[in-house]
Amino acid sequence: MAIKFAKRMEDLKASEIRELLKLTEKPEVISFAGGLPAPELFPVEEMKEISKIVLDESGTQALQYSTTEGFPPLREQIAKRMNSKNKTNVTKDDILITNGSQQGLDFAGKAFLDEGDIVLCESPSYIGAINAFKAYRPKFIEVPTDKNGMIMEELEKILETTENIKMIYVIPDFQNPTGRTWPLERRKKFMEIINKYEIPVIEDNPYGELRFEGESLPSLKSMDKKGLVIFLGTFSKIFCPGYRIGWTCASQKILSKFIFIKQGADLQASTISQREVSKFIDLYDLDKHVEKLKEVYERRRDLMLETMKTEFPEGIEYTHPEGGLFTWVELPSHLDSRVIMQDCLKNDVAYVPGGSFFPNGGKENCFRLNYSNMPDNRIIEGIKRLGEVLKQHMIVKENI
Ligand code: PMP
Repeated sequence: MAIKFAKRMEDLKASEIRELLKLTEKPEVISFAGGLPAPELFPVEEMKEISKIVLDESGTQALQYSTTEGFPPLREQIAKRMNSKNKTNVTKDDILITNGSQQGLDFAGKAFLDEGDIVLCESPSYIGAINAFKAYRPKFIEVPTDKNGMIMEELEKILETTENIKMIYVIPDFQNPTGRTWPLERRKKFMEIINKYEIPVIEDNPYGELRFEGESLPSLKSMDKKGLVIFLGTFSKIFCPGYRIGWTCASQKILSKFIFIKQGADLQASTISQREVSKFIDLYDLDKHVEKLKEVYERRRDLMLETMKTEFPEGIEYTHPEGGLFTWVELPSHLDSRVIMQDCLKNDVAYVPGGSFFPNGGKENCFRLNYSNMPDNRIIEGIKRLGEVLKQHMIVKENI
């Protein structure tokens, strides 16, 4: 019997990149591919103690079902944190706890997209969001970017001439994959445009707190006067991704739809995870923990960029992220990072080829490097290996 899947499955094929990335999981590979935090910085001992406290104090509640919106004290803590870090003015009632911010991306797709609707995003954009939205069969329009993120004139041109744009997906802080950040002026201009066109915006902000240099900037959500911005936050990068605790902050009109979707998806986020994260924030200093992460990530960023400066051949450009986990490398336009990746894997070093970050494809001369996950000595060794492979590819072309 031929099994007939839903039409939406046609666009959801296992990508060749996923197959490539499986090879990077071998321990001998120095992988700059994943977006993983440094595991040695997870507060394992503290969480052993916390899980005992949670079970001692409230074991029967912690192991029980709980409300779809999430654990009220955690939602309070998140609202307070957002108001201080993201300059918003929100309360716990504006927060829904989700299974990572990834779930918020899926919910946004479910809430806003019918087949053929248009999503605008930065070019390039986060592959996990592109894939989550694809399940709802939209068309993507990629808004051109420069070193300061999305270009507002280009956005306006698209908005003026395109119908049926249902949402705009952006990562203004230390973007995945480029590491770029939108300056204040651009944020203000963006909100001016959005208020005119009144289109929902997904502001995805997993990295905002990981700023190593420069001034922290107000979120788009903090400038949202019309309830159009849906802010997605997460504890994955400032604490631990294993708990899968993220959140959506949005106006009641939108949040109530997300809550309804959450009921259908999985009823609620894990009760015990929510209580453990909340207890950690109560008993320890999360800001101090984030400071520790920033110190390590900044050093690793510097090590990576300094080693790239000496080990990469001429003619290669890369970003200088002021925070977050990634730098983005652009090769001369004739080079294909998927092809080069095959040689990298032979030398036990890996990155994510850039093509998959463009929903409409077509740009293969770039790749993403992560600097948070590998220890210092492996960063230096890995970049040296990568530099050797790149030199070979640059020379081959020059000799043709
Ligand atoms: N958005 C962006 C831009 C990300 O980079 C990630 C994780 N890599 C996520 C969302 C999802 O994170 P989580 O579900 O762990 O909160």
